[in-house]
Amino acid sequence: MKSCQVAKAGYTKGVGTDLKNMDNESVNVINKNKSAPMYKFRQIPSECQIKKLVKKILFGTHLHCPRCKSRRVYKSENRYRCRDCRRPFSMTSNTWLNNMKISYEKFYLILWCWTNNLPILQTMKITDLSEITIREWFDKLREHIPDKHWLTPLKGTVQMDETFFKKAAVIAAKDVERKRVVMRVVPHTNIGKNNIAQFVVRRVEPNSKLCTDGGSVYKKIEQIWPVDHQTDIHSKFEFGLTSEIEGLFGNMRTFIRRKYHHVTSSKLPGILAEFESNFNHPEYFENPTIFLENSLFLVPTC
Ligand SMILES: [Zn+2]
Repeated sequence: MKSCQVAKAGYTKGVGTDLKNMDNESVNVINKNKSAPMYKFRQIPSECQIKKLVKKILFGTHLHCPRCKSRRVYKSENRYRCRDCRRPFSMTSNTWLNNMKISYEKFYLILWCWTNNLPILQTMKITDLSEITIREWFDKLREHIPDKHWLTPLKGTVQMDETFFKKAAVIAAKDVERKRVVMRVVPHTNIGKNNIAQFVVRRVEPNSKLCTDGGSVYKKIEQIWPVDHQTDIHSKFEFGLTSEIEGLFGNMRTFIRRKYHHVTSSKLPGILAEFESNFNHPEYFENPTIFLENSLFLVPTC
């Protein structure tokens, strides 16, 4: 790998260029050695720059021991060692990047593909990694999506509906004014009144206006939770009250099909949480740097 300064020359706009800002000149062939990546993407910083970025996110301006916080640390081969507690550590010890088996550049490239919702197949081709490896990385990234508002209930005008997969159902609701959605996977397709009631009680603020179709599972929901319940009767071609949530289900299926091609039932909750987060917090997915700034931190140890 070239030095930081040389790499900087071909990398101007910097960390976090996204697909929308990319032009056709972005990709330059720099190296055809087997050990090095074939292409240098302008939107991917150099190994050295990414290490610097990760170090800054995790330690700020002063490197310190993640265990005892001492600043009396020194470099020892490829790792660091603390003079006070004598523990060795790497830059990513105590983070979800610990024991990373790939280069920082490749990691950033995977993260770039993932934040831009590239399909698995496309990511495999670009990174030269196997489907299993990419799926494992996408799983890991998904597990570390930040969500500061996951407990905040929906309020105001809330549209609610359900949709079905082979072995599962999804209940979803959308706060129309704040453009926020909440989705929940039910591990069977036999949705009953209790599933709906549990969702509403947990995720919809009292005194909201709840818009649903005329399905029997919603009948008398206002007697269980104080909502102003309004219904569309689809058999009478009424769709106005639930059109946004139905549109959302369409987007959700496209997202799953395009990015993951297929999903197993066990992965469905995680992938829906990813879709939900893409919708509620598009700012996290703007570029890999922003994602890392919000999701990477040192886990305290005792
Ligand atoms: Zn220490």
